[in-house]
Amino acid sequence: MGGDSLVRRLCVFCGSSSGKDPGYAADAAALGALLARRGIGVVYGGGQVGLMGTVADAALEAGGEVTGVIPKHLMREEIAHHGLTELHVVADMHERKATMARLSDGFLALPGGAGTLEELFEVWTWAQLGLHAKPVGLLDVRGFYSRLAEFLDHMTDEGFLNHASRDLVTIDSDPEVVLDAFARHSYTPIDKWAV
Ligand code: AMP
Repeated sequence: MGGDSLVRRLCVFCGSSSGKDPGYAADAAALGALLARRGIGVVYGGGQVGLMGTVADAALEAGGEVTGVIPKHLMREEIAHHGLTELHVVADMHERKATMARLSDGFLALPGGAGTLEELFEVWTWAQLGLHAKPVGLLDVRGFYSRLAEFLDHMTDEGFLNHASRDLVTIDSDPEVVLDAFARHSYTPIDKWAV
């Protein structure tokens, strides 16, 4: 088991679908296994479906701890995973996101859809406003997030996002690189209003 000093539990946001390319599931499974090997617990949305279920299964299979947080109304759609270390059933989406944030020391998004981006952007904007000091990242497997990364640079170039805020998000295709960056993370409060 590894010894990352900062991130003991990582919140993983990812699709409730698996995507067309089976490689996405392979990437999600590799991340789950890597987190278990490094002794980092997984916090996620608590479902069995899509890449969410794949990350959870892989981490559990490799001996890791997995905590799910699922709202009551999604128990059926996302089919709550009943083999987890811990499953929190909460009232709604807001409580889900707040609970996942409270239980985690960092946030990483794998490929996903609108829900994944919404969750990632929320914790990023919270960091931007100084509401937490935890690292935030995108795992750019298969180039999935490369156009989003370009768009973030465009937001910066156009004066809607300052460089310090842009730099709060680590984007890399290699999960080891992201986890190493997270372990070194130190948060410097930024002046969000200076673009
Ligand atoms: P998706 O990326 O759309 O497949 O969704 C991934 C996860 O995000 C699923 O667990 C969804 O339930 C969740 N999700 C979708 N919309 C939201 C939202 N507005 N706030 C929080 N979670 C959401």
